[in-house]
Amino acid sequence: MDSTWINAPAKINIGLDVLRRREDGYHEVKMIMQSIRLFDRLTLTKSDTPGIHLSTNLHFLPVDQDNLVYRSAQLLMDEFQISGGLDIQLDKRIPVAAGMAGGSTDAASCMLAMNDLYDLGLSKKQLMKRGVKLGADIPYCILKGTALSEGIGEKLSTLPQTPDCYILIAKPGIHVSTRLVYSNLVLDENTPHPDIDRMITAMKHKDLRDLCAHLGNILETVTIPFHPEIDEIKKCMLEHGALGSLMSGSGPTVFGIFDDPDRAKYAKEKCRELPFKCFVFTTDLYR
Ligand code: ATP
Repeated sequence: MDSTWINAPAKINIGLDVLRRREDGYHEVKMIMQSIRLFDRLTLTKSDTPGIHLSTNLHFLPVDQDNLVYRSAQLLMDEFQISGGLDIQLDKRIPVAAGMAGGSTDAASCMLAMNDLYDLGLSKKQLMKRGVKLGADIPYCILKGTALSEGIGEKLSTLPQTPDCYILIAKPGIHVSTRLVYSNLVLDENTPHPDIDRMITAMKHKDLRDLCAHLGNILETVTIPFHPEIDEIKKCMLEHGALGSLMSGSGPTVFGIFDDPDRAKYAKEKCRELPFKCFVFTTDLYR
């Protein structure tokens, strides 16, 4: 096999809590991660020209060491002393810097695809051990599906599947710095923490309504005051049939959960009418 391709799914955080700030500056989190049907696509082709040659449809993305795909390919090429070259075409569909783990899922998928292309024989667990060196979300992006992420994001356990539903995604055209959000997060006795355990119970009981009634993301306390558009999108979704709506990751992407595809489509049109630019689309869960 000289060439292969793989779809890299985006994720949303159905629940996100930050438990504490560690002395080394990292944050201990408790997050419910869910893959959705929105994909980047990577095509990997062996080449005679030594080195990694990355190209992408987004001209503003780096194609060198600053791209997580490049770094993940380099990591496996060095460890397994892979000679010859590797061409990687990255077709981005997942919005960049949106809180949907675009870079992490690309890196995870690159490692999965290289494992096949070069017959490396690594298990998912072995790939995850390598992936975490490049980013805390990469092990989850190798695992995919519905999972609980703890520690700094590296401790993963599989969760019962999120009940079937329709997802509306809306990303306003604003930039949010993940680093800035975490550094502005205040953790004291007044900080409202989402009840992640309660959400997991609702998932076990396959109770979509109860799950949606308890959605929570502690980072909203930081990002929404900076960007009130996020709250406007949430309100719009809830007013037009969403069972629940939440910001994903550190933002600015907002998702809504629906039990009816027509309501999701209607809410999409309503979000399009908001008085600011918003990238919107409907999708569903990726199992
Ligand atoms: P997370 O949800 O993990 O916080 P995100 O969706 O907010 O991630 P990304 O889309 O991964 O953010 O992009 C964050 C930054 O990483 C961008 O500014 C971009 O320059 C850089 N980057 C590196 N590699 C990639 C990649 N393959 N795709 C997108 N961005 C990348």
